[in-house]
Amino acid sequence: MSAYPRRPSLAVRVGATVIGGGHPIVVQSMTNTDTADAEATAQQVKSLARAGSELVRVTVNTDEAAAAVPHVRDRLAQMGVTVPLIGDFHFNGHKLLREHPACAEALAKYRINPGNVGRGSKRDPQFAEMIETACRHDKPVRIGVNWGSLDQDLLTRMMDENSRSAQPRSAQDVMRDAIVTSAVASADRACELGLPADRIVLSAKVSGVQDLIAVYRDLAARCRYPLHLGLTEAGMGSKGIVASTAGMAVLLQEGIGDTIRVSLTPEPGGDRTQEVIVAQEILQTMGLRAFIPMVVACPGCGRTTSTYFQQLAQSIQSHVRARMPEWRKTYDGVEDMTVAVMGCVVNGPGESKHASIGISLPGTGERPVAPVYEDGEKTVTLKGDHIAEEFQQLVERYVARRFARRSTTA
Ligand code: SF4
Repeated sequence: MSAYPRRPSLAVRVGATVIGGGHPIVVQSMTNTDTADAEATAQQVKSLARAGSELVRVTVNTDEAAAAVPHVRDRLAQMGVTVPLIGDFHFNGHKLLREHPACAEALAKYRINPGNVGRGSKRDPQFAEMIETACRHDKPVRIGVNWGSLDQDLLTRMMDENSRSAQPRSAQDVMRDAIVTSAVASADRACELGLPADRIVLSAKVSGVQDLIAVYRDLAARCRYPLHLGLTEAGMGSKGIVASTAGMAVLLQEGIGDTIRVSLTPEPGGDRTQEVIVAQEILQTMGLRAFIPMVVACPGCGRTTSTYFQQLAQSIQSHVRARMPEWRKTYDGVEDMTVAVMGCVVNGPGESKHASIGISLPGTGERPVAPVYEDGEKTVTLKGDHIAEEFQQLVERYVARRFARRSTTA
């Protein structure tokens, strides 16, 4: 269904996870705790990992944060969480990595923003020191350029050159070019400093969808490094989800992107794991990876005048998500299952027949019965006050019957 093949890229190992080289597109996320609070950070990393984040980035901005990183790693080990941790460094990264070797060792990858490694004459030596630390500890790095912190010397130089040319490009074009140039030139410089090319991942995040597409197409054409995709400052709620999906889907469809993050601003008190779920849903709905059984629900219409149908769809969605950690351990291929929850018998049975297991609820004025289909065949008709519970049990039985048990090794 997609325009694969993926763009060829080097494979970069980050702990036990591999980015690029044709490996499955990796989902990652970032904590928003104070990293100096090792317990809170470890708990959030655990939540993100349990939700399906395959890499988790933490801010390393102070001595206290750097000192806490090994404790975060230890606490995660106590909880049985092995997800690789990535350190996000800015102006003092060279110093923190030098003065906290246990932090440098505990991290599986360093994120370096070439626009934020130091001003003026400090920039090159501080960048070099971070790369040399990565070499010494055998760690990969992400060279992560950000629109909002673009290397201003480079941008000014490129703008000046452009204004002197016979046919000047638009300022937006030059800006996009500067972002890509900063990323590629910084990666090439890291290689000159001794970092192997297969330890470099690149990103070039911007906040506009059209800029994202243009920048990543150019980046993909100009290097072989694996690419981390993400729209920065995507925003809150549906706006953030739609903007991230619109930009990333175009690129993923073209085979561009080896790891993704959805940078959502959580609602106050909201759940940080939402960004992981959205990233998984982007990849799964595009047919690029399967993480969890898909629940297909009709939108409802005038035939579904009660909220019962919405409640059932939500309870099945929650049940599937809650059961998935256990199912994943026990059953092979369960993530490929589809569950249909339809609001009436007009289109419901048809959609249910296409799903692995599906139910059509009675619409307004219809007989209070709910036919269930499994692999295209009607198997039972539910009625009464416990349709939701009975359907959940049928889903459990379907999983146990349909998917082979994973072999366990002694
Ligand atoms: S399946 Fe029935 S309830 Fe759902 S949108 Fe279609 S007609 Fe409406």
